[in-house]
Amino acid sequence: MSTLVSVAPAGFNVERIREDFPVLKQTIHGKPLVYLDSAATAQKPHQVVEAIRRFHEVDCANIHRGVHELSQRSTAAYEETRVKARRFINAKKNAEVIFVRGATEAINLVASSWGRKFVKEGDEIIVSALEHHSNIVPWQILCEEKGVKLRVIPMNERGELILEEYEKLLNPRTRMVAVAHVSNALGTINPVREMIAMAHRAGALALIDGAQAAPHMKVDVQALDTDFYAFSGHKVCGPTGVGILYGKSKLLNAMPPYQGGGDMIRTVSFEKTTYNELPYKFEAGTPNIAGGIGLGAALDYVNGIGLDKISAYEHELLVYGTEAISQIPGLRIIGTAREKAAVLSFVIEGIHPHDIGTVLDRQGIAVRTGHHCAQPVMDWFHVPATTRASLAFYNTPAELDALAAGLRKVKEVFA
Ligand code: PLP
Repeated sequence: MSTLVSVAPAGFNVERIREDFPVLKQTIHGKPLVYLDSAATAQKPHQVVEAIRRFHEVDCANIHRGVHELSQRSTAAYEETRVKARRFINAKKNAEVIFVRGATEAINLVASSWGRKFVKEGDEIIVSALEHHSNIVPWQILCEEKGVKLRVIPMNERGELILEEYEKLLNPRTRMVAVAHVSNALGTINPVREMIAMAHRAGALALIDGAQAAPHMKVDVQALDTDFYAFSGHKVCGPTGVGILYGKSKLLNAMPPYQGGGDMIRTVSFEKTTYNELPYKFEAGTPNIAGGIGLGAALDYVNGIGLDKISAYEHELLVYGTEAISQIPGLRIIGTAREKAAVLSFVIEGIHPHDIGTVLDRQGIAVRTGHHCAQPVMDWFHVPATTRASLAFYNTPAELDALAAGLRKVKEVFA
């Protein structure tokens, strides 16, 4: 463990960081909480909680439409998050940063709005074998409506996408390639830059589902040259119910509105309605204002630590945790990609993941069990479910030791 601590990046003090997360200080069933479910949702530092509290207690008002002081303050705070999100993913313009409910809504927005206008019968859309349901089902709905074919990039036994097969799927009918930056079920980091370039060479657009990437690595949408990028606030230590869709302004301008209502219009009459400019054209109705402000605080927090340090530390945790749990007899890690984020998905021979999760919970260890909204991944590996420990920068090597000890206990219980 001391080896690991010594390789933690300079200036990275996990014990100091944990002080910011009151939730981590509790006991569960009499044992210290070990939270290993950050891929489902990350914990929130008190700075985020405080920003949301402050909004409700001091600045609460609706945004954009008020001339009074409170409305101006809340508008400024909310719009400030747009600027922070733009910088966070290095988008060129604020107009390219759309507030949504989360990655799911971001993908639905593109499938619905862009798909409605730009896809026709006979076209093809490509997703990959390791997608979250959020990046499968919206495209399937579009495919069913429009008579479009959904094609799937296969993966190998490590859970890595096979780029030669992807190349073969691309053709002049391909309109969109929608791929996860990082797989939530396997941890695979996909070579999205290369995959986007391949899509573009075939004349297709690319959407990257960054739900599991944005919390763990620096994202640069301009360097990636992606057409769309989606992420959720709650996985980046922000609140639930808010997320970001990035889209190139040329594309967003050409797309019809996703939802109609207040704020997304310029003028309304019964004869003709005209739409607002970007980004508001895609932001109908009162948004999650407190959530947006909380997201701004979360991005500040994560930036304050530094994504380069977060990536480096989490990688060390992954290496340590992989080694620790690999010692458990009968345990098989599902997802062994060479480029991998800090996700440990595994099965133990003869023991159902839900039983593993339940025994771990009794020891204060929170993991996720199930198909992780990635049923095709489970089918591919011929398992009904896995147990998934997903790590974040506030986890420690000692917690991974606790996981390994917990799994030994599971083995004893089910011996
Ligand atoms: N994509 C991936 C890879 C995910 O892991 C998730 C959530 O787990 C989503 C999309 C959906 O995110 P949300 O539920 O926040 O919309």
